Amino acid sequence: MWLLLLFLVISPARAELVWHWEDSFTAQEQAKLKRWISTTTEAVEQHVAAFPFDVHIFFYRRDSAREPVPWANTRRSRVQGVNFHVDPDYPLQAFLDDWTAPHELSHLLIPYLGRKHAWYAEGFASFMQFQVMQEMGILTPEQAQARYRVRVERAAKRYRYDNQPFAAAALKLRANSEYPTMYWGGAVYFLNVDSQLREKGSSMRAVLKKYVRCCRLRNHGIEQMTQELDRLSGTELFSKTLAENQLKTGFPDHHQLLKQMPRR
Ligand SMILES: [Zn+2]
Repeated sequence: MWLLLLFLVISPARAELVWHWEDSFTAQEQAKLKRWISTTTEAVEQHVAAFPFDVHIFFYRRDSAREPVPWANTRRSRVQGVNFHVDPDYPLQAFLDDWTAPHELSHLLIPYLGRKHAWYAEGFASFMQFQVMQEMGILTPEQAQARYRVRVERAAKRYRYDNQPFAAAALKLRANSEYPTMYWGGAVYFLNVDSQLREKGSSMRAVLKKYVRCCRLRNHGIEQMTQELDRLSGTELFSKTLAENQLKTGFPDHHQLLKQMPRR
């Protein structure tokens, strides 16, 4: 009995999904939406690690939308969660094929780092979304690779701040609503680090697994988080690549990178 009690006290409570229906949805719509988010969350947790907190999911209705999830964003204050604005008329498969939930749920794997570092957070979630969609069986590694290539090359072509480091230019990209350029320029950081970790027999995935388990609840800023990721990977790749994005002018170098395949 005491052993059981001790076990209950020291083992962290299993995190759960907490559902919030902000508009009215039929029972059938609720079942479909729950299945979509449960499937996606399981893939994120399978790919990386269980969230060390409950994840709150808020649903808002957007009838007659041109896509299943016209808008979503994370909640990062009192609770960790995601607001999903959805058109529940779309079939389950249309929701599963959409990148929004893998993207938003991935955001929650790292702490909120502040507006100034939005390029880092968006780059991270953009990198993760296609990894999660591979885990879900929605994309093959080849399809994921093709998507990275198209998006990164398009962002590089649109980038107009060649005399500035990307981290500084990202503030302007954000102010000008050039979101895809900011997102995919940011994703190059993670594609680069992942590729270099793989050369050493590790990966972003392996380091993230450790990070979520040991350190996710610390809520530290970008510099401390980067130091922690360096420590966990036994490298200086995270801080060195961050310094490059903060100091080296032009769009992050991606030419070598996109020849390689980020695998699972
Ligand atoms: Zn995002």
